[in-house]
Order: sequence, then structure tokens, then C-alpha cells
Amino acid sequence: MKVHYTCSHCGEDIDTLDMEILDETLLGLDCLTQEERQAMVWYDAASNMWYIQAMCDACADSLLPRPIPAGPTAGFH
Ligand SMILES: [Zn+2]
Repeated sequence: MKVHYTCSHCGEDIDTLDMEILDETLLGLDCLTQEERQAMVWYDAASNMWYIQAMCDACADSLLPRPIPAGPTAGFH
């Protein structure tokens, strides 16, 4: 099955993983509450794909407080 990550903030596709089984520990889902899990993770039987809401690097970067002022962006991906 495929596990497809999308950004919950900007909607960008982040990554798609191919897994034999949904490994909740590997994906970090085992530490979510039931409510968080229901909001962030769902399964599409038609495509046999799991969808997981996460945060892309760009959004994480823009939302998290920066201890150091932003420098030159060269090399930033
Ligand atoms: Zn994003």
C-alpha cells in the first residue's frame, strides 16, 4: 500500500511511501491521541492508500519560532 503525506497547511504533496503494512510506530502515529489520529490519518480503499496530514519543510520553517534571525537562503531546499 502507499502512504501519502500532504501538508495540512499549504496542501503540498510532501512524500509518498510504499509499505507492506501501515507501521504506526515507524510513522509516529502511535503517539497521537485518537482524535488527532482521526483528523490526520485516513484510508482510501479505492486507491489502497493512506493519507497522512503533516507539515512540509517550508510551512514548518515559517511557523516555528526562529532562535536565530534568518540568514542567506543559499542552500535552502
Ligand atoms: Zn506546507
